[in-house]
Amino acid sequence: MSFEDLKLAAPLLKAVAELGYTQPTPIQTKAIPHALTGTDVLGCAQTGTGKTAAFALPILHRLMEMPAALPGKIRVLVLSPTRELAAQIDESFRAYGRYTGLRFAVIFGGVNQNPQTDSLRKGVDVLVATPGRLLDLIEQRFVDLSGVQFLVLDEADRMLDMGFILDIRRIVALVPKARQTLFFSATMPPEIRRLADTILNRPVNVEAAPPATTAEKVNQSLYYVGGREKSILLAHLLSTLKYSRVLVFVKTKHGADRVVKQMRRWGIAAEAIHGDKTQGARTRALENFKSLKTRILIATDIAARGLDIDDISHVINYDIPHEAETYVHRIGRTGRAGASGEAISFCSVEDFGSLSDIQRLVGRKIPELKANDPAYLQRLQNPDRGAAPLPDLEEVAEHVHAHRSRGARGQRARGRNPRGHRDSRDHDSRERVRDREPLPPPSPALADGGERFEAMDRESAYESASLDYFKPQRPESSPRAKAKAKALPPVKPAQGLPRRSQG
Ligand code: AMP
Repeated sequence: MSFEDLKLAAPLLKAVAELGYTQPTPIQTKAIPHALTGTDVLGCAQTGTGKTAAFALPILHRLMEMPAALPGKIRVLVLSPTRELAAQIDESFRAYGRYTGLRFAVIFGGVNQNPQTDSLRKGVDVLVATPGRLLDLIEQRFVDLSGVQFLVLDEADRMLDMGFILDIRRIVALVPKARQTLFFSATMPPEIRRLADTILNRPVNVEAAPPATTAEKVNQSLYYVGGREKSILLAHLLSTLKYSRVLVFVKTKHGADRVVKQMRRWGIAAEAIHGDKTQGARTRALENFKSLKTRILIATDIAARGLDIDDISHVINYDIPHEAETYVHRIGRTGRAGASGEAISFCSVEDFGSLSDIQRLVGRKIPELKANDPAYLQRLQNPDRGAAPLPDLEEVAEHVHAHRSRGARGQRARGRNPRGHRDSRDHDSRERVRDREPLPPPSPALADGGERFEAMDRESAYESASLDYFKPQRPESSPRAKAKAKALPPVKPAQGLPRRSQG
């Protein structure tokens, strides 16, 4: 099917052709014919599928056909969870609508409102807004929604995650009931369906390729690594991988800043993007990433939402997300536009449950990459190393393993662990115990390329991942702890692994 087949107005066809779009994407083919008839649309599609044009093109077409309801009133309201996405949607509307003579504006928080109110005063047909700033400007009487004929909610799931539900309900209550509504969400959990039910009127459901299909184009792999070793491994990867752009996902804003600082220590330039940054800093970071001035962007999920950059060769999940669908969404940032991409995840013991969910959703076991050995990683942490290239992971890991098993035998004989510490089991701080434990060899269970898919429960994940050194250790030294330990079943060591010294 071509855009001409969709019977879009000539000014839109011209703009689309100039943008180099030769044919509609699947979500556009499915959504546009319904939207052109005025039907409400419930779309399940993520960024990268072409969903913006799927709602923008039919709306622009219909706007051109209709007389303005009331001059000077906003006719289209698009709600977006983040400033970045709002700016991108506005940009898309302007690009698709460049020959329509319609007027566009975008409003979001974190910046001076004056330029935004100036453009509102001049008159706007299509307004893209984040909920907070919109309500603010409604209260100040800069925005009047009484003429809205088209309402779009984009990335509705993210709006809920960000706690915008009440704001959305307040805004929707201000929009006339006689309208067309287009509702898009990357995921469709029950609360999104409930919200959609209250906002949409007998919608048609359209869906882009199910999330797992997106993941097919992406080579996925993981390292079992936790705690501070993550930053060393990241530094290693960023020093050795061949990449165009790397997007690193971190759970928290604070974590994103910390990772940037840690990378700087290794002489690796990266920038962070998250909600606590000023709008100026976020825009700069994005522009630097787009222009390849910075090739490593450390982002939180919310800030990266809607990031419209095709050439990302690697997505690194520094922290694995809790929701499997977020994982699919993240890795969908690479492998776009027909290219293949790499997604590497750092899986710590806290992530085993999430990993199982992810593997179930993507329908495969994600293969483990090389040996992850905290002892090796610690050796890399040489403060005098400066920005010198890091050694090859596999080569050094092998050396460390050989060295470690030789050392471990001698140390055990002397009642000490391989690093010369007294073997300490009398506290249950996982971090501290882990530091003093003998280290496991690489996982034999996961070294087969991971073709099979097996849903792993938490316990078998511990076993197969050879991560029993990550297991919370039972205190065994105090009489009370000993009694408690007796009452518990013994911890079975992973098959094929040497039993550790019991101190
Ligand atoms: P979106 O999912 O709306 O964020 O779009 C993702 C990217 O695909 C954007 O860079 C769009 O410019 C691009 N795009 C949208 N529709 C098409 C199309 N039919 N052909 C080629 N590229 C497209």
